[in-house]
Amino acid sequence: MGSLEGAVAVVTGAGRGMGSAIAEELGYAGARVVVNYSRSKEPAEEVVEKLSGNGAEQAVAIGADVSDADQARELIEETLERFGRIDVLVNNAGITVDKTMKKLTTDEWDRVVQVDLNSCYYTVKAALPQFIEQESGKIINISSFVGQAGNFGQTNYAAAKAGIIGFTKSAAQELARYNVTVNAICPGFIETEMFSAVPEEVKDRIRQRIPLGRIGEPREVARAVRFLVEDGDYITGQTININGGIYMQ
Ligand code: NAP
Repeated sequence: MGSLEGAVAVVTGAGRGMGSAIAEELGYAGARVVVNYSRSKEPAEEVVEKLSGNGAEQAVAIGADVSDADQARELIEETLERFGRIDVLVNNAGITVDKTMKKLTTDEWDRVVQVDLNSCYYTVKAALPQFIEQESGKIINISSFVGQAGNFGQTNYAAAKAGIIGFTKSAAQELARYNVTVNAICPGFIETEMFSAVPEEVKDRIRQRIPLGRIGEPREVARAVRFLVEDGDYITGQTININGGIYMQ
């Protein structure tokens, strides 16, 4: 795609955490950014303000719970009404409900799969006609190394994140003919609120497992998203691992 000037990017769950870093990275690179949020309205508006204050062309915060198919569709419709096109879709929204299977309820299983996996299908399905008409597009789904390696107490999350990888590869095959690329990013442990929920002693054990010896920064994932968007025209159906070496394929 080259320069992001004039491109329109939708980032789900972009009011905080990795999503806000991705929105900022794409915005500073010249994209017009839709900062989606579910509960974090004010933080999302702050991201928009920050982007506008730093010379980004245009950004807007749009509320939508992307685990709801209708709201995911409305997010895409509102984007098209506002900007008339969509070039980049980053499916970043995600939650965890960590419990061993012995304690996990069916509702907790369903909730994580609904937010982390089904939302990706909902947004892509809604944006598909536009991508096909434009004959271009970049879809980036944020998975996790847990979807590759598994993790104790995360059957729901691991299944959803592994599902994202399968979805990504299949969508990449279907959409290549329209010049739409679909890739997944598998972060390792990244310094956000999701990670800060991990107890201190567990964090220490985690650090010891990471060959690079530290937790990743949200911006390190955001830079990879930008790379895929700017320089990834011949990259599709791939999973890019940004994990400090905690999982090596
Ligand atoms: P986070 O700080 O907990 O932020 C989660 C984001 O997801 C928030 O912006 C939240 O928005 C959004 N979200 C949750 N449910 C949503 C819904 N139904 N509709 C729209 N947005 C929703 O987590 P994070 O670390 O930034 O995680 C971002 C992504 O990276 C997730 O997919 C996560 O699984 C993945 N990941 C994280 C790590 C890590 O170590 N941090 C590692 C690997 C992968 P609201 O606040 O507006 O609800």
